[in-house]
Amino acid sequence: MLNIVLFGPPGAGKGTQSERLIEQYQLVHLSTGDIFRANIKNATELGLMAKSFMDQGQLVPDEVTINMLKAEVLNRPDAKGFIFDGFPRTDPQAEALDALLNELGTSITMMIALEVEEGELKLRLAKRAEVSGRADDANPEVIQNRIDVYNRETAPVKNFYMQQSKFHAIDGIGSIDEITSRIFNLIDSNRT
Ligand code: AMP
Repeated sequence: MLNIVLFGPPGAGKGTQSERLIEQYQLVHLSTGDIFRANIKNATELGLMAKSFMDQGQLVPDEVTINMLKAEVLNRPDAKGFIFDGFPRTDPQAEALDALLNELGTSITMMIALEVEEGELKLRLAKRAEVSGRADDANPEVIQNRIDVYNRETAPVKNFYMQQSKFHAIDGIGSIDEITSRIFNLIDSNRT
């Protein structure tokens, strides 16, 4: 199986690049943010709970997020591999993911981190707000909070994968096509 953690701050291009990756490698795309948003749209109990955190740019608690992610993975026994987009965002989430994949007889192949500096992230998120309809893209204070939460709670997750020699950084500045080919080259050179 090819199991990729696509990592990076909000606005780095994880969602966009995930679309390219699932097509190229026939992977199942699991975006925890998308799953939460679908739950909000359907007014589920999980959605109601997640919304209060998301609207403020805070992380949804680990236990809830981990249980949801586990259910999604177990729901796809036919998968050739997964792209985890927006997960793990904390060390306990990374540990839970390792344990789950281990139970399934597989593991994370690599973490690919899209690197984009903060000024560019803010420009991209402001632009995305015009089309995404996401409340958390529209408010500069919430954007700042999401970036701060990323730096404080999520960026350290890199170390977890560095210790396993699975961490790879990609320059996330350039055209969408350029960044896609950087990622494809990285994956292909790691598989052969
Ligand atoms: P995203 O679509 O990845 O930008 O996520 C949007 C929001 O959903 C985040 O700001 C968090 O509030 C929540 N969220 C998504 N993934 C996670 C996660 N792995 N852990 C905790 N909260 C998450």
